[in-house]
Amino acid sequence: MKIRAIIFDLDDTLMNTSELLVEKAYEEAADAMIAAGLSATAEDCHNVRKEIFRQHPSENVFSAIAAHFGASEEVAKAGYRAFYARDIKENLETFAGVNAMLDRLCSSHDLFLVSAGIPNTQQQKVDALGIAPFFKEIVLVDRSREQEKRDAFLQLMQKYQLQASEVLCVGNRFDDEIMAGKSLGMPTCWVQHGEYEHVKPESPEDAPDYTVSRVVEIVEVCQL
Ligand SMILES: [Mg+2]
Repeated sequence: MKIRAIIFDLDDTLMNTSELLVEKAYEEAADAMIAAGLSATAEDCHNVRKEIFRQHPSENVFSAIAAHFGASEEVAKAGYRAFYARDIKENLETFAGVNAMLDRLCSSHDLFLVSAGIPNTQQQKVDALGIAPFFKEIVLVDRSREQEKRDAFLQLMQKYQLQASEVLCVGNRFDDEIMAGKSLGMPTCWVQHGEYEHVKPESPEDAPDYTVSRVVEIVEVCQL
């Protein structure tokens, strides 16, 4: 079936979040956890975080760091808040070619941006990038309220009367938007980039329909 709509993820899909923001945000999170009572140096925290993330990438890494050092859940929450609810001070830009791609695709397809995190921070990223005009609707999924991308996808399908088979789901996290899109029956394109690139399907039937290393490749790979 023809693709009528495309749902894009933001972080590490349209912009290089891993390179531009992630390490700085982790440093601030470590400082916040130490200020909240974590008995560790920033360097210890960094090393433990790397190891936890390598082994259990889908877990709440801040809870795991707190548990590792015997600290309270309040310490974990301080890290979580510092990481996700930060003000964007950096200059941001999309990956090379992304704005031109969105500009072209938005004249032939309905484009949606569905980004999860803390909405105020995610909105700051959208504003800094100046990409809002390309999208028919932008949905900011609130992780602090346990909201899920899958529900946002369902609501968009209902609101715009889209069949799952007509909606291409594009994102860098196999364990998040790609699995959510697949569970609804959407064709999926995994942008294998960034800190979650090692989180892969466990069985062949879980595999995304398409895999690319840069989002601009979807035009050719998915024949858009
Ligand atoms: Mg992402």
